[in-house]
Amino acid sequence: MTAEPQDRMIRAIAAGGEVRATILTTTALTREIQRRHQMDAVVAAATSRVASSALLLSTALKGDQSVTIEVRGAGPLTYARATADAYGGVRAYAARDTFPDAERPATIQAAFGAEGRLLVIRDLGLGEPYQGVTPLITGSVAHDLTFYYLNSEQIRTAVGMDERFTAAGTCEASGAFLVQALPPAGQTVQDELRHLALTEQLADRVEALPPLRELLADGGLDAEVLLAEFFPEGFSILEDSPIAFRCACSQERMQDGLRMLGRAEVDEAFAEEGEPLHLRCHFCNNIYPVYQKDLPWGSSEPG
Ligand SMILES: [Zn+2]
Repeated sequence: MTAEPQDRMIRAIAAGGEVRATILTTTALTREIQRRHQMDAVVAAATSRVASSALLLSTALKGDQSVTIEVRGAGPLTYARATADAYGGVRAYAARDTFPDAERPATIQAAFGAEGRLLVIRDLGLGEPYQGVTPLITGSVAHDLTFYYLNSEQIRTAVGMDERFTAAGTCEASGAFLVQALPPAGQTVQDELRHLALTEQLADRVEALPPLRELLADGGLDAEVLLAEFFPEGFSILEDSPIAFRCACSQERMQDGLRMLGRAEVDEAFAEEGEPLHLRCHFCNNIYPVYQKDLPWGSSEPG
């Protein structure tokens, strides 16, 4: 049995910090999403791209902060949602996991459809989470995230995401990259011109890349190879850290959720489904059995 590849997030800067890149290898993550939710390959790929988007946006998070990405389209998949934490953990699910053979979309774009929106929710622990929303451009997720950066953050960005599945539907490799030229710190015409030149140079290099699918090695993306393509003059690695599927759910949290529903509704659920109730976490598909005795009002008759 071969060991599962270790997914990583690698962040690098170049040109004195004015350009930066993040590379994700996500082979194990895609497999884990697919295994947990028993997804068709196309749904797993689409959901994994949304998870990659959340990870790409998670690099500035600290402590308990999180970022959630939701891609919602007019296509048959309807939506996929992922939340990343500050430590390389991400969880994700989609509106549905499988399609009948005749209805299964052939591509991620067909699954989401080109009309819809990409929603970014940043929970910085400061009360109301910050929300940004942009229209979907292609439904491929990668282009939609590019447009989000341009539209909401005024940062010219290139995002690539791809994956390879076997004919049997197993993920062989998947990965993602983001490369961007940061707005200049200075305000002079020279600063602006240098920024434009860097942006154009970066765009040309991204354009000249071989198809991402060809760059996907067995374990995912080879970050060093990709970074050398983006920054042939040299680069510095800022971070090389593990990423993995991780969910914040627990027995206690699920029981707390029931408590908030109120006793009447919970009693009704027990009457309909019997004991224990099997509560499923949407994000990770873990099942938590809950007994009446575990609830604050105990197993006494309602009165
Ligand atoms: Zn969970």
